[in-house]
Amino acid sequence: MDTKITLFLAILKKLCKCVYLPPMSIMTLKIEFLKGVGTAKADLLAKELNIRSVEDLLNHFPFRYIDKTKFQKISELTGDEDYVQIKGQVVQLQTLGAGRSKRLVAQFTDSSGQIELIWFQGIKWIEDSLQLRTEYIVFGRLTEFNRKFSIAHPEMELMVGHPAVSFLAPVYPSTDKLNKKGLDTKSQRRIFRQLTEKLLPADLPEILPLYIVEKLKLLSRFQAYQFIHFPPDSAHLHAAQKRLKFEELLCMQLKILQYKNRKQSLIKGYIFEKVGDLFNGFYSKYLPFELTNAQKKVIREIRKDMGSGKQMNRLLQGDVGSGKTIVALLSMLIALDNGFQACLMAPTEILAQQHFQSIEEFIKPLNIGIGYLSGSVKGKTRNQVLTALKDGSIKIIIGTHALLEDWVEFQKIGLAIIDEQHRFGVKQRAALWSKSTVPPHILVMTATPIPRTLAMTLYGDLDVSVIDELPPGRKEIKTLHFNENKRLRLLGFIREEINKGRQIYIVYPLIEESEKLDLLDLENGYQALLREFPMPEYHISVVHGKMKPEDKEYEMSRFIKKQTQIMVATTVIEVGVNVPNASVMIIEHAERFGLSQLHQLRGRVGRGADQSYCILMTSFKLSKDSRERIKTMCETNNGFVIAEADLRLRGPGDIEGTRQSGLFGLNIADLAKDAAILTTAREIALRILDSDPEMNEPQHTAIKRHIDHRYRNLQDWSSIS
Ligand code: ADP
Ligand code: MG
Repeated sequence: MDTKITLFLAILKKLCKCVYLPPMSIMTLKIEFLKGVGTAKADLLAKELNIRSVEDLLNHFPFRYIDKTKFQKISELTGDEDYVQIKGQVVQLQTLGAGRSKRLVAQFTDSSGQIELIWFQGIKWIEDSLQLRTEYIVFGRLTEFNRKFSIAHPEMELMVGHPAVSFLAPVYPSTDKLNKKGLDTKSQRRIFRQLTEKLLPADLPEILPLYIVEKLKLLSRFQAYQFIHFPPDSAHLHAAQKRLKFEELLCMQLKILQYKNRKQSLIKGYIFEKVGDLFNGFYSKYLPFELTNAQKKVIREIRKDMGSGKQMNRLLQGDVGSGKTIVALLSMLIALDNGFQACLMAPTEILAQQHFQSIEEFIKPLNIGIGYLSGSVKGKTRNQVLTALKDGSIKIIIGTHALLEDWVEFQKIGLAIIDEQHRFGVKQRAALWSKSTVPPHILVMTATPIPRTLAMTLYGDLDVSVIDELPPGRKEIKTLHFNENKRLRLLGFIREEINKGRQIYIVYPLIEESEKLDLLDLENGYQALLREFPMPEYHISVVHGKMKPEDKEYEMSRFIKKQTQIMVATTVIEVGVNVPNASVMIIEHAERFGLSQLHQLRGRVGRGADQSYCILMTSFKLSKDSRERIKTMCETNNGFVIAEADLRLRGPGDIEGTRQSGLFGLNIADLAKDAAILTTAREIALRILDSDPEMNEPQHTAIKRHIDHRYRNLQDWSSIS
């Protein structure tokens, strides 16, 4: 639009508002009318950053702050820093290479030394705008190449001419396009400056109940927004961050818990009131061991749920080997005691088979109809199982997701247990519902501990039980870190263990991007082992993702039956396989695995009475993160500690199955770092909803309105749980 017309319209609009409305709040101003913005830039802000209103703009928080008093010296850099901030000058600038490898290289010095700054994109623009021999602040990720440090695409800012807006200068997220169109950090700062100056307390009224603000000694909403953009010092910055994080997490928890409460009051569940002969008989006569306290506690929680009249939706977390199977069985017996059927589902055929075998063994003396169903059960057997399920002669059915197929009909399904939850899709869980008019109770079991903060978020509407104790008498798995120069020792060790009658896993990484190389690597490793451990004395299984399912099953079953002593595999063995006689887990290129994956793999051993070992083979040179992962593995066997470390190292977005957390659009809170604030927010949310379930009290109406507004586009998040 022509600027004159825009201006005219703006004036007209302002005039109208002056006449008809009370003094206009800056919150209702279109951002194009802010000084330094205009229509073109407003369009760009909308396109690039999805900023369309003053409110959006205010919520566009700095992602870091430049503290102009703290710099590292180039000579003191070690290469261990993730990010560095240095101060100095560009003394030389040249373009190197051509075509795709073309790059701009600047020699940057401070009084102590020199490093290179490198750009691969936007070369022309940077070349034109960089000033030689002028003091800059440079910030970026340090990389080391050929013993030389460099920073690719650093953030740069002139020392002089920098408006002394505050001690901590905000740096805003931006994009190449914004930078080029004059919306770099500095001009963004100018826009925010005038915006916050015009802001009045009435523009950002308090939404939290006063008693909470006072109790937690929080800044007011207005103050928090002022200080998050322009903190006078770090104490004010922290106070602002705390207030805004708390507000964000409280709103999220209120939303989740309200959903959970509504779901629970709407959906009726079967009432299993009695614990009958099957449960009691099994418990007193046939249970082969004493339950751990943690197992007892969890069974009590499950019993209470199933007797409550509401549908159970419980997540059972327990580290590998903590004894979830027996908990599953006892829960199923309660369902049977109340005249219902129960099912247990596993993500793979092998796991389902193992469950079937161990549960069949457990309940042999009870004389209960038990069945198995998977895609590979065919023909007459299949028909028999289906009929028996429908007429109720099968009480316990164990299988794969084949149980969810349309033609599988139950007589009366009361409890569905799903093992290894992260392999089971949301849709599949939902399919269980259609099997019955009243939905069965649902117990989801997972051996991948989920950090507390994520559990409160992603599974915030599920109840969580934790088995935090291993059965007695387990020997701690010894974890060792080896380099290539210990290969000979490793082979000797394998031989010793095999001579003792044990079995060995050797796992190789396999990722899509380097699939060919990875397979070659595994193949070479396998050939080398064949030479070291020749037939007929030794037998080696090999399993990888590129094999046909039948072949995989065959090789696995040879290992399970002890016909082979070594299993060379890619991560297909990751989940659940139980071979108690296997006592050594060797992980090749361990630096390439994520923490939770390493922990899962390690959980394949240590299942019997023997001392077990996990050996992490890595190359000599490791990145900082890899070193941290290996160190964590060697230090602890505790899955929860590992899950927390994983979250810290990777960030919540990267953890399997947690991408949904983006649904809540967390703007400032960080699930990896803000566990304490989240815990407080959850407690307070619980208390609010306890006393005022629909948030209709006057002190809660403001936050209720805010939540409705904030999550107005969030329709489908309930499907994640
Ligand atoms: P997971 O939680 O990994 O599924 P399992 O249920 O497979 O663990 O249990 C691992 C092993 O520990 C099994 O052999 C099981 O029989 C045994 N076990 C379970 N609970 C106890 C207990 N309370 N005391 C002794 N052994 C137990
Ligand atoms: Mg298990």
